[in-house]
Amino acid sequence: MNKITDIFAQKDRTYSFELFPPKTDQGYENLKNTITKLAALKPDFFSCTYGAGGGSRDKTLDIVEFIEKEHHITAMAHLTCVLSSRNEIKAIIEDIQSRGVRNILALRGDPPQDQPDWQPGPENFRYASELCSFIREHFDQNFGIGVAGFPEGHILCKDRDKDAGFLKLKIDSGADFVITQLFFNNQDYYDYVKRLRNLGVTARVIPGIIAITNYQSLLRFTAMCGATVTDEVKEIFEPIQDDAEKVLQEGIHFAVRQCRDLLDNGAPGLHFYCLNKVSPVDQILEAVRV
Ligand SMILES: Cc1cc2nc3c(=O)[nH]c(=O)nc-3n(C[C@H](O)[C@H](O)[C@H](O)COP(=O)(O)OP(=O)(O)OC[C@H]3O[C@@H](n4cnc5c(N)ncnc54)[C@H](O)[C@@H]3O)c2cc1C
Repeated sequence: MNKITDIFAQKDRTYSFELFPPKTDQGYENLKNTITKLAALKPDFFSCTYGAGGGSRDKTLDIVEFIEKEHHITAMAHLTCVLSSRNEIKAIIEDIQSRGVRNILALRGDPPQDQPDWQPGPENFRYASELCSFIREHFDQNFGIGVAGFPEGHILCKDRDKDAGFLKLKIDSGADFVITQLFFNNQDYYDYVKRLRNLGVTARVIPGIIAITNYQSLLRFTAMCGATVTDEVKEIFEPIQDDAEKVLQEGIHFAVRQCRDLLDNGAPGLHFYCLNKVSPVDQILEAVRV
């Protein structure tokens, strides 16, 4: 299938959906139905996450291959390199290539909780930038490469200028575009893009969007990934957190406002963290797509 950069050559904006591999066979079958419904919304591409340490490897690759072969929509395999040796990563990328998949989101990932002190050895990758260089060295231009970006700085590097410098290193090492961590204050995204442009990064920086559907899980998730729950979000969702229907409606309103503002201010599309669900992303996309 296409490289995502080929889609960029045709379109100023892209709309994409991120999925994760389910843990059970039944979950996998359910996801196939969800993908069929999401595919009907005509996204420009899908992506599927990958367990750090390789836990979900085959499922990730099965899902992206299924999307491309069954639905003829471009898909991107996330690939984390933490814990894997260079030879192992090479074999996985060969597997990705043999399935006809042409896009990789090159990530470092995090050591698992039961190995918090894991340190890379000479055969391992230290940062995602090294994975980008490795893909270009061994697979040349066969893949479009995306990388993760952090408008608020990565949780381990809250110095935003320094973190933006590390992002530039990923682009200089061969990455083509950036997908951001979720955020709720658009100004953080605008400042991030400006910071990157000042460093000479011209690549597309696609904002990652999550719709708030459950306030308590939002608090748990943001605590793990380091995204800020803004005062505005707290003021809207804290008082209604026990009313699931109200949270859903406000979640849609918030996301629609956020997405419209991003598109009005030049964002090159939207990447939705779907959480393997069709709703409410279907409603949000319908309201904001231009
Ligand atoms: C869009 C998106 C998709 C994701 N998908 C997945 C997924 O599928 N599976 C998964 O497990 N995780 C996923 N993650 C989470 C990601 O794995 C974590 O954020 C992880 O902690 C870092 O990965 P990275 O690729 O950003 O690492 P890197 O870019 O390597 O950065 C890691 C840390 O090192 C610092 N750093 C980078 N380069 C250097 C350097 N040269 N010297 C010193 N410090 C440096 C950075 O500032 C950062 O603190 C995703 C994140 C995003 C935003």
